[in-house]
Amino acid sequence: MIYFDHNATTPVNREVRELVNNAMEKYWGNPSSIHTIGKEAAKELDRARETIAGLLAVTPQEIHFTSGGTEADNLAILGILQPNQPSTIVTSNIEHPAVKKAVEVILTKQSNCKCQVIPVTDQGKLQVDKLKDVVFAGNGLISVMFANNEIGTKQPVQEIGAVAKYHQIPYHSDAVQAFGKMPLNIKENNISLLAISSHKIYGPKGCGAIYIKKGTPMHPRTFGGSQEHGIRTGTQNVPAIIGFAKAAEIAFSRMEQERLELLDLTEFLFQELSRSIDNVLRNGHPHDRIPGTLNCSFPGTISGMVVQEMSRRGVCLAGGAACSATSAEPSTTLTAIGRRKIEALAGIRFSLGRSNTKNDITRVVPILKEVIENLRNENS
Ligand code: PLP
Repeated sequence: MIYFDHNATTPVNREVRELVNNAMEKYWGNPSSIHTIGKEAAKELDRARETIAGLLAVTPQEIHFTSGGTEADNLAILGILQPNQPSTIVTSNIEHPAVKKAVEVILTKQSNCKCQVIPVTDQGKLQVDKLKDVVFAGNGLISVMFANNEIGTKQPVQEIGAVAKYHQIPYHSDAVQAFGKMPLNIKENNISLLAISSHKIYGPKGCGAIYIKKGTPMHPRTFGGSQEHGIRTGTQNVPAIIGFAKAAEIAFSRMEQERLELLDLTEFLFQELSRSIDNVLRNGHPHDRIPGTLNCSFPGTISGMVVQEMSRRGVCLAGGAACSATSAEPSTTLTAIGRRKIEALAGIRFSLGRSNTKNDITRVVPILKEVIENLRNENS
C-alpha cells in the first residue's frame, strides 16, 4: 500500500505508541483523584500540558485538552458567544465542517445571530479587503482556518489577526492541519482561540486541544466536573494526551526539515502528474501551503471513483475532505476557488507524509494515469 492521505490521518509514531502503551499501564489513575495513583496521572497530564503550551509559546493555563479538532472548533464557536445575545460571526467559505456546522447550529438556535461569509481568491486565500469591509467592533467572532485541509492553502492569518485586534474581536483559527507543520505565532497573529488535533501529527486519535487566550470569556459546552479549567469537563484520556504531547514535540523538532522535504516531494509529484497526464489542474496556492498537500483536478472523472479504483490498486488518496469521500457533490472548497462543477467533482487530494519517497511517486503516477484515462474513456 502507498499512503498519500496524511491529511485524513497519520500512522502513530513508534516512539509515541510505546509511550502511550506504557502510560496505559502506569498512568491509568484518574488525574482528579487526590491519592498517589491519581496524582501520578495528574503529574503526567501537567507535563503534557506544559509541553504543548511551550511549543505554542503560551501558558499551560491556556491549553485545554479535548477529544480532537472537531470538539475544539465546536467549543470555540459555541462557547464564545453569549447565549441569546445578538452577534455576528465572520468566517470564510472554505472552513472545515467542524466550524461550518457549528456556525449553522448557532444560526438555527439563535435568530438574533448573523453570519458574514468572506470569499477566498482563486488560490484559496481569504480576501482580507472584503473582511475589512464587513467587520466592525460589535462582531462576536472571526473564525478563519490557519490552512485548508483540502487544498492546503495557508490563510493570511497575520492580516486577519490585525483586523481582529483593531476591532477587539476574538479571532478563532482552526489550526488542525497547520499545527506541527508550520509556525503558528499565536501571540503575534493575535489569535484568541486555536484548535489542534493529535492524529494529524502521528499521535493517537480522539485527542486534541483548544488554546483559549487568558481573559477570553468562554462558556463550557459540557457540564460535570471541573476538569480542563472547567471549560471541558470529563475525565481526561491521560495516555492519549501523553502521546499527543510527544507527537507534537517530534513534529516541532523536525518541522523545518520535513517542510523542505515535503515541498520538494509534492513539487516532484505535480511535475510528474503534469508530464504524464493530460489536463491536470492544480488547486490551491503553489507554495504558501501545507508542505505535504497537493490538490489537482482531472476533469472528465469523478474523484470518488478515482479514489476507489486507486485503492483497489494499492494507493490511498482522497477526493476532497475524508468525511465527504462518498459524496457525489462537488467539493465546496473547489467551487469556492472558482472551479467549474466538472472540475470540482474531479479534485484529488494527495497528502504526503513522513514515510513517502520519490519512489512512491514514480510508482503511483503511471497507475493514476491508467485509472484517469480509463475513466475519461468510459465517460466520453
Ligand atoms: N479541522 C480541520 C481543518 C481538519 O482537517 C479536521 C480533520 O480532518 C478537523 C478540523 C477535525 O479534527 P478531528 O479529526 O481531530 O476531530
